Amino acid sequence: MNCTSLCYIIMACIEKIYSVSALVGNGKCNANCPDCAGKYLRPDAKENEIYYKNLESAIKLSARYGGWSLSFTSSGEPTEDPSALTRAFEVYDKCAKEGAYFPNVNLFTNGINFGDKDFCKTYLPKWRKLGLTNVAISVHGVDESAQEEIYGISSYPKLEKLVENIEEQGVGVRATLLLRKCYVDNSKKYEEAVHNLIDKGITNITSWPIGKPDGSRIEGTPSRVGLFEIKNWLRKNAKMCHGHVWGGGVYDYKGNILRITDYVTKHDPKKDFVRQLVVFQDGTVAYSWIKEGALCMK
Ligand code: SF4
Repeated sequence: MNCTSLCYIIMACIEKIYSVSALVGNGKCNANCPDCAGKYLRPDAKENEIYYKNLESAIKLSARYGGWSLSFTSSGEPTEDPSALTRAFEVYDKCAKEGAYFPNVNLFTNGINFGDKDFCKTYLPKWRKLGLTNVAISVHGVDESAQEEIYGISSYPKLEKLVENIEEQGVGVRATLLLRKCYVDNSKKYEEAVHNLIDKGITNITSWPIGKPDGSRIEGTPSRVGLFEIKNWLRKNAKMCHGHVWGGGVYDYKGNILRITDYVTKHDPKKDFVRQLVVFQDGTVAYSWIKEGALCMK
């Protein structure tokens, strides 16, 4: 056996590409978080025709490999650049009409602009027609006071108001409940935060510990013990619906969806799956948020 055939044996072929995450817009943000995860990507947030071409290719590629979730996010707040979002949804709409349909199309947001009813009325019906299924609001604590603190703003809209404004336009609401030291960092606070969200009408909640874009720990990452406690609480109090091959899974908690996962998964060329294709604003498509060793398209 020569060296080439040995390499062939240990390199797996990709069988599944679960999702696509695309950065959209000019990178502006209406918040000012102390450990902003998007800042380092902002220099690339410029109009770029190659980006839209590669976004279409990434959506079609993932759909062909069994992908079922598309997420729009940003190096800032995506809703601060609604025309770029509309164009990205138009790209998805074209793909869906050509057969590359995703049952979950999510818009990740800090939620601030959805406190404005007129904003919701102006954009959500249009984005819904182009395929948007859910708005995923990032939540940082047990209640809204943490939103103001983390986002560095004087007043954050009530969560129930956000739910009302969004659902009124026929779009679902999810929460991304971020796990952060001194905020939601153990099972007791996680349980409290989950109950608070459910009481406010948010019944689909995803969590991951905050960290660096390369997946390593930062000052605000909760302790390993705290994270273990949260996972253990889920195991004891909820029923697992399915696991993720990259770690974590989806649970049924009294009829509500709770999902726990990691912030990012480093691409492993020996594995036969890709958690997500990431479409960066310079048009690069990578097999993970960590571009190095994970390039897919340019
Ligand atoms: S909302 Fe997001 S993009 Fe805006 S400052 Fe906070 S982390 Fe950064």
